Amino acid sequence: MGHSKITGALDLFRLLAALLVVAVHTSPLYTMDETADFVLTRIIGRFAVPFFIMVTGYFLYTAIAKRDNAYIKGFVLKIGTIYLISIILFLPINFYSGYFGEKFLWGDLIKDILFDGTFYHLWYLPAMILGVFLVTVGIQRFGFTISFLVAILLYGIGLLGDSYYGIVQQTDILTSFYDMIFTLFEYTRNGLFFIPIYLLLGMAISKSNNRLSTKQIVTGLVISSVLLLIEGLLLNSLSWQRHDSMYILLVPCMYFLFLFSLQLPGKNSKTLRDLSLIIYLIHPWMIVLVRGFAKVIDQEQLFIYNNFIHYLIVSFLSLFAGWILTKFSPKGRKRKIDLLPDNRAWVEIDLAALRHNAKELQRILPSHCQLMPVVKANAYGHGDVAIARELMRAGLKMFAVATLAEGVRLRQNGIKGDILILGYTNPKELASLEKYQLIQTVVDFPYALMLNQYPKKVRVHIKIDTGMHRLGVNVENLAEIEKVFECKNLKVEGMFSHLSTADSLADEDVRFTQKQIQQFNQMIDLLKAKGYHTGKLHIQGSYGILNYPDLVCDYARPGIALYGVLSADDKIRASVHLKPVLSLKARIALIKEIQPGEVISYGRQFTAKSNMKIATVTIGYADGIPRRLYENNAYVMLHSKRAPIIGRICMDQLMIDVSHIHEVENNDVVTIIGVDGTEQIRCEDIARQSGTITNEILSGLGPRLDYVYLD
Ligand SMILES: *Cc1c(COP(=O)(O)O)cnc(C)c1O
Repeated sequence: MGHSKITGALDLFRLLAALLVVAVHTSPLYTMDETADFVLTRIIGRFAVPFFIMVTGYFLYTAIAKRDNAYIKGFVLKIGTIYLISIILFLPINFYSGYFGEKFLWGDLIKDILFDGTFYHLWYLPAMILGVFLVTVGIQRFGFTISFLVAILLYGIGLLGDSYYGIVQQTDILTSFYDMIFTLFEYTRNGLFFIPIYLLLGMAISKSNNRLSTKQIVTGLVISSVLLLIEGLLLNSLSWQRHDSMYILLVPCMYFLFLFSLQLPGKNSKTLRDLSLIIYLIHPWMIVLVRGFAKVIDQEQLFIYNNFIHYLIVSFLSLFAGWILTKFSPKGRKRKIDLLPDNRAWVEIDLAALRHNAKELQRILPSHCQLMPVVKANAYGHGDVAIARELMRAGLKMFAVATLAEGVRLRQNGIKGDILILGYTNPKELASLEKYQLIQTVVDFPYALMLNQYPKKVRVHIKIDTGMHRLGVNVENLAEIEKVFECKNLKVEGMFSHLSTADSLADEDVRFTQKQIQQFNQMIDLLKAKGYHTGKLHIQGSYGILNYPDLVCDYARPGIALYGVLSADDKIRASVHLKPVLSLKARIALIKEIQPGEVISYGRQFTAKSNMKIATVTIGYADGIPRRLYENNAYVMLHSKRAPIIGRICMDQLMIDVSHIHEVENNDVVTIIGVDGTEQIRCEDIARQSGTITNEILSGLGPRLDYVYLD
């Protein structure tokens, strides 16, 4: 499931990578210790460019897989433009350094433009263009695996022309083969041999969900880095290296480093991304300027020959110039990327709205009361792992699920913090509680006794029934509650109850709710008076927060409100502004003209009264659209216009009236929930039209839907 683009600290790491490139070109440690400098600039420094390449692969994969070739063309065009500007930018230095002097040949210029770059660091841009082209064609023609194998092979050929050149020199055939290669380009570090493998590595990470734990990633990174260090020092001492940008162990190193950066907290930042590219591109100019300036003021000893100071100044100037340029870099006018041209139906998740809602709910609660997001039922259809991950990044430390399997799934996908299972867990599965460090709810006293039989400590929260009569020990049965505390194998970490009519502001319902709260609090006071440690306390779900925000609890358990939706169009006490997180979209499969008297869909429920243009939409009740939705004048949005749903909704499709929408075409995007132009269809509307609440609509969204996470 999903095209979730988690960014973690990628953008920050890119900036560090750019500063590392500056180090590669200024050798900051050279005056202090040559070996240290070799390790920094010739081994560690080699992490930088592959990292850049992998980030590109990571973000480009969706477009390649979905054959959004327009997007890829746009990307290549952008790199091409940057390349052109950079060539011009460095022309003065080319002239100055005699590039166009006596030895100038047009053939060399063309070679440089195509492969090596017209200035030493500019090779990256033509290489990226060639690499992206090769990988796109490779994946789309021959599939991912074959492309990857070919990329490994190419990297192998490249290695022999780079760090492993010593092997080549031992045989005549290889030597003449590589002589030929080197008449075409100066290095094998280029778009043919170097770029594809790192692009594909980034794509492989984008494609598959990471199954490694942080510990495994760090272990992998440490081991492969140490081995890389040995590889580098060894090759250097053998004098095998013709150039030193390609190592075997750089590949696993980069894989683990990239996974590691994804695990770190961080923000998606276009400014940081632009900044790192600008630093990469302009720092050679800064080197020239610093040298010139040092000469003029006669301070070469300090500013040039002290490599470390030289590095600091060049880095600082590059950062500063980059920072100024990002202020002027074009914002907005983002082309809307059509990430899913061939998907039939999908959910779009607005992660910024999710963060906004969490902040809003936190704002109306007492400051010490924390949110315990409820991510049961696939986070109400929003994608549990991605939602929990985003909230974890936003600093939340406890989550609630309904079932054991949901808790296990979160853990297997790297969700940290506490996870409370709100529902019943089969006694046969208790071992999983321990294995995945989940907290179980004590659903009643006999269940507590059963849990206590388990030979190891079980972490629990005790559920108290204050009137809903679903789960919990009866609030009036203090003796039983105390006995739960006496269970030796239970570690009671909290107690909670659930409000059953907090959504209603009718007097009687409010009185009922207040009685629930009061009884819970009295019971807690009695327990505390007797010296029991009641742990973390929580009562409020979404409506508990929205209508009773002043309750003094340790946690609140918002579900529906966190997703920016109310269960129905209810009045609420608190003044909050929530934003819907989820949109639901599908496509037009085909368009038909029908005559008066013709009928549509199962059961002949809709008859055309005049000539009509209708369209079949690729979503149905198996995807979670209520079958009866058509009965109450429901509609979808298309080209910013309303299109009524006509006839019964089928399992995989529904039909709409598009007679008035002239621009309609096959494959057009249809919005079922969400915003289109100035109009919005809210989940509350769909719920009302099908006689239910939004919770049921959202949690019923089907497993066939695809997921796109936007930020
Ligand atoms: C589902 C659930 C919640 C969340 O309810 P919302 O009304 O969606 O906020 C909170 N507490 C318990 C016990 C639940 O089962």
